[in-house]
Amino acid sequence: MEITFKRLSLDFLTMLFPSVCSLCGGPRTRSERFICSPCLIQLPRERNYRGVDNDTSARLLGMFPFVEAYSFLRFSKKGQVRNLIHKLKYGHQPKLAFQLGVWFASEVLFQVRDRFDTIVPVPLHPEKLKSRGYNQSFEIATGISHVTACPVTEALQRIHKTETQTQLSRWERFENTSKEFSIVNPDEIQGKSVLLIDDIITTGATMAGTAVPLLTNGVEGIIVAAIGLTQKA
Ligand SMILES: [Zn+2]
Repeated sequence: MEITFKRLSLDFLTMLFPSVCSLCGGPRTRSERFICSPCLIQLPRERNYRGVDNDTSARLLGMFPFVEAYSFLRFSKKGQVRNLIHKLKYGHQPKLAFQLGVWFASEVLFQVRDRFDTIVPVPLHPEKLKSRGYNQSFEIATGISHVTACPVTEALQRIHKTETQTQLSRWERFENTSKEFSIVNPDEIQGKSVLLIDDIITTGATMAGTAVPLLTNGVEGIIVAAIGLTQKA
């Protein structure tokens, strides 16, 4: 009798908590995607004041023209956000990238939905795409598209691989990065407002490098958005 009861309660628990949280390892219910609700609530958010009065805009100001800029989470060297970004980039977890896009859009980007016509992800170099199997920025963009019903346009291609840029000045990085990208589908972006998506913003050089070909090919305006913004030490 006791064994049957134990067995039943174990089955019941497994039914309620079929999996574990990717961050704390605790139980996760069927309705919780990848991480449990307490972990999701505790992820440090960026303060996304509408417009340009926020830390993401401050980071990019003066580098290239943009309309608005948003980041979802505060990325620090130690912390759960770093953990998450690492998983979505190197842990072969395209669905986690998609889900982060869903959360970002639900909490932040849906409110500015009327201000962009299409979502453009920052591309990976084809060699990197082949080895990783997916472009995390494309997956994030697809998650945002799922919530906002705005289409994704793969308008950019990466023509050179990024070399290590840590020794270079901000201007030298920008000069290097702006040669990395070109446009593949100019007709699909001309005259449109673009939501430009990357996984993380550090110096802003990648965003600047992708913004230049977009703007010189007739994009009307760029709203910049990333899952993580690195925190300055
Ligand atoms: Zn958790």
